[in-house]
Amino acid sequence: MQETEAVERARHEIEVCNACRYCEGFCAVFPALELRREFSAGDVSYLANLCHGCRGCYYACQYSPPHEWGINIPRALAEVRAESYVEYAWPPGFARAFERNGTLVSLVTALSIALVLILSMAISAPGQFFKARPMEADAFYSVIPLWAMQVVGLASFGYALLALWMGARNFWKDAGPAESVGVVALGIALWDVLTLKNLGGGQGVDGCNDNSERFSMRRRYLHHAMFYGFMLCFAATTVGFFYHSFFGWAAPYAYLSVPVVLGTVGGVLLTIGTIGLFAMKLIEDPMPVARRMLAGDVALLMLLAMSAITGLVLLAVRATGAMPLAMAIHLGFILALFLVLPYSKMVHGVYRSAALLRRATERNMKPLGGE
Ligand code: SF4
Ligand code: SF4
Repeated sequence: MQETEAVERARHEIEVCNACRYCEGFCAVFPALELRREFSAGDVSYLANLCHGCRGCYYACQYSPPHEWGINIPRALAEVRAESYVEYAWPPGFARAFERNGTLVSLVTALSIALVLILSMAISAPGQFFKARPMEADAFYSVIPLWAMQVVGLASFGYALLALWMGARNFWKDAGPAESVGVVALGIALWDVLTLKNLGGGQGVDGCNDNSERFSMRRRYLHHAMFYGFMLCFAATTVGFFYHSFFGWAAPYAYLSVPVVLGTVGGVLLTIGTIGLFAMKLIEDPMPVARRMLAGDVALLMLLAMSAITGLVLLAVRATGAMPLAMAIHLGFILALFLVLPYSKMVHGVYRSAALLRRATERNMKPLGGE
């Protein structure tokens, strides 16, 4: 991680926290910083990605604005997080994708929809694009062949996974030598990730501060809805793939089949989570957040929401003449999602999980004395 103004500012603030230690029970960040007396840029990045942006320490801090010291840990760490996404991006030449991220997401989405639409219209026989295909086997594949869906889907998703893995590797190396990762640390980190423990508050409080000193579990629950909704949609696609590849059962499947139930529940949860988080952005206190990522955050939430909503619309119109158009638009959103995945706010889930794993490896280390 390069020494930048944001890193220096964050370092100064966490050094104040390391002397104060009032917030040590709030989240994983404070116990982790108490293991250190000096903070390299990599340490600052590690702590920044460990922070879940719950804002508890901002409203609790006696030195936060309007105090002259202006301590604002959530914003200072969010600024470093934003820079770390650029720094760790793979391949490095694509790091600029994080600048003007909202524009990039919108552009890739529009191009992906147009591409899939043109492709599917070209594949359909003339005059057949809007023909109703009432639940006949292989109805979807008469619009876009299965092989085309599989090749494009696997290539774009495989690339996204590779780029995310390389980014996580860059983060891990930058944070310096680590304790060895054992099964217990893996289990603890997995639990923290799956339960979003650090959005649950600490020291007898429940949840995050959305826009005031009041606590709420909204952010945690909406994140859960988004994450598990996404995972259920992924599970639905995977089950469909196995049905077709190993049993020869071609889509579309019955409303009560496993892939359709998983996809429907996942789509509804994903819609609720993304729209809810977007609504929270409209009411949040602007002081403890970094505004530079806002456009990219909103664009990604909209992309996720539209991926879910268009999937539900496709389910509703699949036996009508609107199915080919609905499918082309839905697949366009999915393609865009896979393409921007490693260059969007989605990376925060990967780096935060890696930071939680690192924190779990440090769990038996004793804090150094305060200053
Ligand atoms: S955020 Fe403020 S109150 Fe909390 S540890 Fe830091 S300086 Fe102390
Ligand atoms: S904002 Fe929340 S998660 Fe981040 S350092 Fe403060 S208390 Fe911890």
